[in-house]
Amino acid sequence: MKAAVFSEYSKDPAKVVKILDVDPPKLKSNEVMIKVESDAFNYNDLWGVWGEPIKIPLPHISGTDIAGTVTEIGSGVTTIKVGDRVVSHANLSCRTCYYCTSGREYDCSNRLVWGFQTGPLWGGFAQITKLPEVNVVKLPNDVSYNDAAAIAMVGLTSWHMLVGRAKIVPGQTVLIMGGTSGVGMVGIQIAKLYNCNVIATA
Ligand SMILES: [Zn+2]
Repeated sequence: MKAAVFSEYSKDPAKVVKILDVDPPKLKSNEVMIKVESDAFNYNDLWGVWGEPIKIPLPHISGTDIAGTVTEIGSGVTTIKVGDRVVSHANLSCRTCYYCTSGREYDCSNRLVWGFQTGPLWGGFAQITKLPEVNVVKLPNDVSYNDAAAIAMVGLTSWHMLVGRAKIVPGQTVLIMGGTSGVGMVGIQIAKLYNCNVIATA
């Protein structure tokens, strides 16, 4: 399969990111294989190729925000089937630690952001990729692959902040700082969905 690969860090991604032929990933029993239809860029894709603020595994395939079609499922997969349209949920948590089992997967002791901290050669900027069954979300037919990839990480970040932590309720006034950013734009929509009064800055 073709993938966007880099084997060294650089402040100029165009110098080090190459389209290469690499082996497709091998499926584990709890994972699904995905034919990637759409990718979005995320700031952590830049951090990855910069090698800052952390060093990530090399050679590396970036890409945390993808949408595509499931082409194969592992033997233990029960909720996703071949042909499903899915979007990535890039927060890889262990699901067994104290935090995971008390509803705080974001604080997981073993948390990795897929496509950023994972590898070598395990991210979304490829023709084919794989994710654990619990890290894909089925898409309604009226949500396009492009829209799904665009909202993947910013959507879960905004939802976590507003619904998971702030626990917004109808009638509240919500101030969205940075209303033109990805997280901000989705935050405005979530707050509106909750019938909040939204004030935004940009
Ligand atoms: Zn955990």
